[in-house]
Amino acid sequence: MIRIAMPNKGRLTEPSRELVQQAGLAFSHISGRSLQAKLGDRFLALFVRANDIPEFVADGAADLGITGRDLVRESGRPLQELLDLEFGRCRLAVAVRDEDDVSSIEDIADGTPVATSFPAISEAFFAAAGRRVRLVPVSGAAEIAPHLGVADIIVDLVSTGSTLKTNGLREVATVMESSAVLVGRPAAAESDEAVAQVRDLTDALESVVRAKNKRYLMANVPRSALDEVRQVLPGLSGPTIIDILNGGDVVAVHAVIGHAEAFEAIARLRQLGGTGILLTKIERLSP
Ligand code: AMP
Repeated sequence: MIRIAMPNKGRLTEPSRELVQQAGLAFSHISGRSLQAKLGDRFLALFVRANDIPEFVADGAADLGITGRDLVRESGRPLQELLDLEFGRCRLAVAVRDEDDVSSIEDIADGTPVATSFPAISEAFFAAAGRRVRLVPVSGAAEIAPHLGVADIIVDLVSTGSTLKTNGLREVATVMESSAVLVGRPAAAESDEAVAQVRDLTDALESVVRAKNKRYLMANVPRSALDEVRQVLPGLSGPTIIDILNGGDVVAVHAVIGHAEAFEAIARLRQLGGTGILLTKIERLSP
């Protein structure tokens, strides 16, 4: 069975469980404290700390892992990113105290102490920028370090920026963008059978990710308006047009559209004489 390491707590836990379930895989025997659960018939989920997942996959304790791209990069292990799962979005950023006279990393003096739980990424980042800072590794809550006199600068994960603001800090540079990812070992090292299993899982997860911001739109429209309707509904390969039994001058059109385009598309279809308009979520989308 293919073993997938998944976060057992923290902000990536719920979305990663939801994602595999939306892909049609059910957990069996999952309980608060269990360390593993069967996932469908072919996979075994191992619940471990998000930080440990890159090591577990690299060492072969798991075949695949779901964790943050930041943690994969920090581990320095040669893992392959199979899929961007598009949740847990954040950025690793350099931040300074509001009142400090620093507006970019060029203003950071040599020897400045930098608190971070990402020492490897930070070291590479400052070295590439030609800055010789002094790293102060912390295991979390780097944002209090400047107030304790432990460091002048931090490198930490930011999503909305509200934690920085609350702590009187200001972002001056982005080190990397991150989100949850599916990772595995380079395929060359695996058996054909394992590669095929991994591909099936990657495809299924990708179909869920792809469907998330899409909607399926159905409407009845006058046949005479079809040219304009095609402009409104580009779809994946143009809208599907279906004759309606006894429909006369009216046809049904179906199309996949972006969630963000739905408002304008429906308003336009109504102007064109569209009726019976239905918009639904899509569970999975494989082109
Ligand atoms: P956790 O187990 O809750 O500490 O999960 C940490 C992971 O969640 C990080 O490694 C990031 O990949 C992701 N993440 C997304 N947004 C944030 C954020 N604002 N702060 C910390 N981690 C975040």
